Amino acid sequence: MKRLFDNCQNKHFDLIIIGGGITGVSLAYEAASSGFSVALFEKDDFGHATSAATSKLIHGGLRYLKNFEFGLVRESLGERRIWENIAPNMVYPLPFLVPTYKNLKSNKLILEMGMFFYDLLSFDKGNTWDRNKRLPSHKTLSRSTTLSLEQCIKSRGLTGSSIYYDCQNINPERLTLTVLRSAMKYGAQAADYAKVTSFIKENGSVSGVEVLDMISGQKHCFSSQLTVNCAGPWADLILKKAAGNHQNNHHIRRSEGIHIITKKICNTNAVTVMTASGRHLLLMPWRNHSLIGTTDKEYLGDPDQYKVSKESILELLQDVNENFACNPLSLNDVRHAYGGLRPLIDDQTEGSYETSRKYEIFDNNDEGLNNLITIEGGKYTTSRKLAGNAMKMICKKTGKPLKKSITDSQYLDGCQIKNLEAYIRDIQLQYPDFSNQTITSLVSNYGTYCHELLDIALREPHLKQSLTEDGEILAEVKWAIEHEMADSLCDILFRRTGIGTLGHPGQETIQIVANLAAFILNWPETRINEELAKVEETYLTA
Ligand SMILES: Cc1cc2nc3c(=O)[nH]c(=O)nc-3n(C[C@H](O)[C@H](O)[C@H](O)COP(=O)(O)OP(=O)(O)OC[C@H]3O[C@@H](n4cnc5c(N)ncnc54)[C@H](O)[C@@H]3O)c2cc1C
Repeated sequence: MKRLFDNCQNKHFDLIIIGGGITGVSLAYEAASSGFSVALFEKDDFGHATSAATSKLIHGGLRYLKNFEFGLVRESLGERRIWENIAPNMVYPLPFLVPTYKNLKSNKLILEMGMFFYDLLSFDKGNTWDRNKRLPSHKTLSRSTTLSLEQCIKSRGLTGSSIYYDCQNINPERLTLTVLRSAMKYGAQAADYAKVTSFIKENGSVSGVEVLDMISGQKHCFSSQLTVNCAGPWADLILKKAAGNHQNNHHIRRSEGIHIITKKICNTNAVTVMTASGRHLLLMPWRNHSLIGTTDKEYLGDPDQYKVSKESILELLQDVNENFACNPLSLNDVRHAYGGLRPLIDDQTEGSYETSRKYEIFDNNDEGLNNLITIEGGKYTTSRKLAGNAMKMICKKTGKPLKKSITDSQYLDGCQIKNLEAYIRDIQLQYPDFSNQTITSLVSNYGTYCHELLDIALREPHLKQSLTEDGEILAEVKWAIEHEMADSLCDILFRRTGIGTLGHPGQETIQIVANLAAFILNWPETRINEELAKVEETYLTA
């Protein structure tokens, strides 16, 4: 993957995409694979914002059935199956236990009805390319079985539970990057640290953008037939930029959602309970730890200033302590916290939790901004479908024929693995020098590119060094810089690898990674210190 500025002389594209979250990269993939020339600009690192703040689920969203959002749930369930197919090393089945109690809110009958419809709407869940990815239908469990499976479930008033299946996206940051890499295989150009600072207009229509290369400090102009605003929580700010002196009343709501990571509290099942305020709280297994979330609170500040606050963590801890039977958790038990802002369509509902997770595609011509489209809302799970729907409007506006999408029928780049278990066994046999943990982690995160990483480590044995409990190795740092456009220590620790995402990995580990990055990227001492400071800053709350 090469940065657009280093790789491309072209200044005109069919499509310019603003934003390198899952929405932007999915559109880049859909458009490039349909024959469009595409340039994507991301002002920070790819997938650093909302797309890195998810509950790590590829899911239908059982709870949306409560609002009768059958269309959204069916679309998500269909997309869940497609993700399992096209990214088999990154998307895994995950059982969910939903305890039932004597009270009305968590009543067995109501839950059973929801489960029935969820199964009905996921009628094609058995139709996956890898047999091991097929998800069973839900089951009802007795009180004693429930308690034997997950000890964190409260026993008082418990009548039993239902178990159903969704999928876990173990590393959304890398999945976003994988979709982008797939787009680039079809010729899409992309740059991180490339901020769209203003719009170029001809006869009142948007004809391109001015982009600041935040690494070189240079400004560049690019023109396009059409520009698509995929800036997530920044989408309305982009529209204000495009409108210039004209007023733009487009408004999106932003809602904060945070997660915490603690030592392992649940076994192999995700457990979901309803809080007193009617919100769902999830406790999930993740990388031998527990991932707990999420919250949903309207955020009224500047999205650039957003940071997880200590107050939000304390509120979440209180919810966990009230709703689970584990030993009470305190701030000291929180290994890491992350958060993000949901861009939600302003549908005038009172609280952000009730606001729909559906997406919308706006032709900004209606607001006097010709040749600009804005995409808002949505879920990570439905990003591919959203991109497909956006293509309908894009083709109509550009006069190009709408081609049949191929993104649901072929593996993402590096994910060409027919049978994951057999593939891992095979790699273990081929590379006996590496631990099973390292092999599993590399296959999950890099798919078929794991060969390249393992070969690097064999050629340069010091890069074999294991850095985390998951068995991540130093070769990944070299790979991130040389092949995945990683420009900073944070890019490496939090998005290209998971070295930093389970909590602070220790000064020694960070220093080892920083030394290698400094060596490859030629960082002077001052830059190393700045990078180290930014990493420490990431672990601080507001
Ligand atoms: C707490 C939480 C939990 C969630 N859990 C799930 C889940 O489990 N499953 C699921 O399916 N969905 C989930 N979602 C929803 C999902 O995360 C979002 O729908 C999705 O990530 C939105 O992606 P995006 O690309 O639209 O936005 P983003 O990922 O925010 O990307 C927008 C990008 O635009 C860039 N940008 C902004 N301004 C500019 C500019 N001027 N120039 C260049 N670039 C710019 C930003 O830097 C940013 O990277 C969750 C959301 C939250 C907040």
